[in-house]
Amino acid sequence: MDLRFTPEEVAFREEVRSFIAENLPPEIRERGRLGYKPRKQDIITWQRILNAKGWAALSWPKEWGGPGWTAIQRMIFLEENLSAPAPELLSFNITMLGPVLVQFGTEAQKKHYLPRAANLDDWWCQGFSEPGAGSDLASLRTAAKREGDHYIVNGQKIWTSTAHNADWCFCLVRTNPNAAKRQEGISFLLIDLKTPGVEVRPIISIDGSHHLNEVFFTDVKVPVENLVGEENKGWSVAKYLLGNERTGIARLGTSKYAVRHAKEVAREVRMNGKPLIEDRAFRVRVAQMEVDTKALEITQLRVVSAYVKSGGNKPDPISSVLKIKGTELLQNSSELVMDVGGPQAMPVWQQELAALTNEPDIGPDWGAQMAPAYLMLRAASIYGGTNEIQKNILNKAVLGL
Ligand SMILES: Cc1cc2nc3c(=O)[nH]c(=O)nc-3n(C[C@H](O)[C@H](O)[C@H](O)COP(=O)(O)OP(=O)(O)OC[C@H]3O[C@@H](n4cnc5c(N)ncnc54)[C@H](O)[C@@H]3O)c2cc1C
Repeated sequence: MDLRFTPEEVAFREEVRSFIAENLPPEIRERGRLGYKPRKQDIITWQRILNAKGWAALSWPKEWGGPGWTAIQRMIFLEENLSAPAPELLSFNITMLGPVLVQFGTEAQKKHYLPRAANLDDWWCQGFSEPGAGSDLASLRTAAKREGDHYIVNGQKIWTSTAHNADWCFCLVRTNPNAAKRQEGISFLLIDLKTPGVEVRPIISIDGSHHLNEVFFTDVKVPVENLVGEENKGWSVAKYLLGNERTGIARLGTSKYAVRHAKEVAREVRMNGKPLIEDRAFRVRVAQMEVDTKALEITQLRVVSAYVKSGGNKPDPISSVLKIKGTELLQNSSELVMDVGGPQAMPVWQQELAALTNEPDIGPDWGAQMAPAYLMLRAASIYGGTNEIQKNILNKAVLGL
């Protein structure tokens, strides 16, 4: 197997890198460099810049605004974008909803929602998980009862990322509580979050940020034309979406950036009277991380090449390896960054407190987000299907155990 990039792919990487360098607004770049999460408006601004270039709808067909890239080009783009570091495209719109509508949506749904999703005119969120239905998603209970030309939705979702920023939510709902198999009574519904009866409540996570929410539905009226695919066939839609969700989940660019950032800061931080970068134990740790990053990069290339060779029709279960290894690397590299920061890796609220009390800033800018990023990334092995579940998939589908 030839794992080298072709000259065209090398040129493509250069093109992407210079476009990002020339077009990423400096303020957004600086926040990313210091490890801050992009704000809502930063994500919208950057996605619209990419969309104007024709680069937002990554994997969609050309007729619906996609750039017509190969899987390798998509991988290169994602890596360059993350390691810039630039805000990620909103995955709910681009990786999840878009391909689902292309595959299962009506013409009217495609025409209305796809361009708006690409340009982030609508911010989507994912209403799958419920209390008691996470890994075992098929046990979800949020009910949608058909009444004339509407469904009446009642129930609760949880861990709904960015629902407080969102305009719309794509939801899995139970339309047939009496189906012989739990999977057979589920439908995929598009819900406008401004509809009366929808309530979004924040969940504050360990890093002090508001990313997660609970979403409650009380007699929410949803027009039947918002059903995607057939009634009670939403499980196939969900499986298709979850397969796509794993694409790019390794977020290799983020780990690469973290290691680079740790090395930069280690030139400034001193230990035993010398810059930390000169410490032997530290250098060994960085070298190990760089080897792990390279190994994951090669594995990712192998998975993508095999996917391309197979005709690229459905996600390969081996991509679970990328989820497991990618998230382990994300967690390890954020730990490396935090260790480099040492006592400076303090949460941002301490700096905000200093500002409020007119005290001098505590610690350098580069330290402010180290601990929060480390804490938030503990969740990476849970979201997108936990790493234990990925191991089950590998056991069954790849090892045949
Ligand atoms: C930061 C974050 C963002 C999220 N965003 C969203 C979102 O936007 N939309 C959404 O719908 N959901 C979202 N989720 C929810 C996420 O999909 C679930 O947390 C995940 O699927 C696990 O479900 P659970 O939390 O109910 O845990 P459980 O399924 O109860 O699992 C608890 C533990 O048991 C293990 N376990 C469960 N079943 C098995 C098994 N069969 N074999 C071995 N081990 C098992 C799990 O690996 C885990 O360690 C998010 C979660 C997080 C942490």
